[in-house]
Amino acid sequence: MKISQTYLADFVGLLFPQLCPACGASLMAGEEVICTDCRFTLPFTNFHLQPDNIVARQFWGKVELQGAYALYYFAKGGKVQNLMHHFKYKGMQEIGILLGNIAGEQLAKSDIFSSVDIIIPVPLHKKRLKERGYNQSTCFADGLAQRLTAVVDDGNLVRVKSTETQTHKSRFSRFENMQEVFAVSDPEKLNGKHVLLVDDVVTTGSTLEACSLQLLKVDGLKLSIATIAYAE
Ligand SMILES: [Zn+2]
Repeated sequence: MKISQTYLADFVGLLFPQLCPACGASLMAGEEVICTDCRFTLPFTNFHLQPDNIVARQFWGKVELQGAYALYYFAKGGKVQNLMHHFKYKGMQEIGILLGNIAGEQLAKSDIFSSVDIIIPVPLHKKRLKERGYNQSTCFADGLAQRLTAVVDDGNLVRVKSTETQTHKSRFSRFENMQEVFAVSDPEKLNGKHVLLVDDVVTTGSTLEACSLQLLKVDGLKLSIATIAYAE
């Protein structure tokens, strides 16, 4: 007897229902990636409605940003942490695309973010990229681009050296070194553009700051940042 693949998929689905990666509930028919409850109740920051939000404040006096945004608040042991875990370590790239779509819908309504021309993901360590097979920030960027009139430029901002050997250094010299970790390979492509720099989680902001300082060397470039989550 031949079993068709869709029949087999349905059967496997009955035995092992797909679970919401945020709350663990079984996904119902028609629910994709995350459940409807999580889709509406995960903790939105609504930073796109508050220009002087807590992430924007972290950059005051350091780098000039047009706007700073995070989709969710991140709490230890919370649903957003579960979601990020599946996204980064379980190969669920579709989470990044979905969250990019949700964030993009919010940003498309904002005067500041709707003028973004180019979306640039923070580059991943080569070693990590090899292990994981994808850069999670690029997935988020792709999802954002589907909802904004912007294109993703993955590869213009590059890591020129690894930060992994620096852990023994003092905090200050680590930060000094950090700035030299990133470089812009084709600055002319970014002249006069509004660039949205994206990363998965913002905590201290030191990686985003180091990338921003390199990007802002480009003539006439305006910069905003967006992340999936903000962790205090
Ligand atoms: Zn859920």
